[in-house]
Amino acid sequence: MKKNILLAVSAALIMIFSGSLMAQPPQTPPQGRPGGFPGGAPQGAPQQQGVRTPPSRLGGTQQPNGQEAPRMTAEMTEFYDPEPPVVTPGSFDAKNQNWGAPSDAIILFDGTNLDEWESVRGGEAGWDVANGVLTVNKRAGDIRTKREFGDFQMHFEWCVPEGIQGSGQSRGNSGLKIGGYEIQVLDGYNNPTYVNGMVGSVYKQTIPLANPSRPNGEWQYYDLIFTAPTFNKLGQYKTKPRVTLIYNGVLVLNDVEIIGTTSYIGIPPVDQNSTFKLLLQAHGDPSEPISFRNIWIREL
Ligand code: MG
Repeated sequence: MKKNILLAVSAALIMIFSGSLMAQPPQTPPQGRPGGFPGGAPQGAPQQQGVRTPPSRLGGTQQPNGQEAPRMTAEMTEFYDPEPPVVTPGSFDAKNQNWGAPSDAIILFDGTNLDEWESVRGGEAGWDVANGVLTVNKRAGDIRTKREFGDFQMHFEWCVPEGIQGSGQSRGNSGLKIGGYEIQVLDGYNNPTYVNGMVGSVYKQTIPLANPSRPNGEWQYYDLIFTAPTFNKLGQYKTKPRVTLIYNGVLVLNDVEIIGTTSYIGIPPVDQNSTFKLLLQAHGDPSEPISFRNIWIREL
């Protein structure tokens, strides 16, 4: 009898206890999606409504296989090295209305001398320096840097003389030659010519995206970024040279692939160099020579 009373009391207690549990409101699922990622699980991850993965001591989640899945934090994707070098930008020159070279640039022409240059024919660069300006001497031929460069950023300014005569390729023709690759410099103001040879072109290869030329007598500028080619064991291009050109603030060549050494006639051949002297062209046309100033380069 005693035993029956005890069993009845136990059963009643169990019913009361389980009833109180049943009466509790269902647990609210965690905000966001489960998975331990900020804002919930990544897109596409399976979701289990109402199933809660217990947080671990490290703030991650315990996976069914017992492995720890660390919780991503903002700091995990914030890096502090390598720190980029500090470069002081060039200062504005009110007289010339232009910007000077940044602090890490190699100055190729600052208006005073041609120490960084030589004649392609041998000996000293025979161009004229006066009043802070370098002017082409057509009789002296092309000049080139004494140094060689691979990947680089370059800036230079140039001016076609006011009232220049001639037309097409025979009016203010010069050029920047990166080894054998010519980026055309030419009077492009009301001076039609073949468009893959106009100012801003990779000569005889790539038409510029725009023609932002200024009139004769006004200074213009090129900002150029060059990526040197690489080669396979056979001496073929593995990656071709590439160039970006901003002309008077306007993008005219957008990471363009150069297909080979500039050729006036024929298919451009492969130039197997990966560093280059930089040439300024003394073109043989009879028009008045153009001038340059503020030439600098940053090795990349
Ligand atoms: Mg030229």
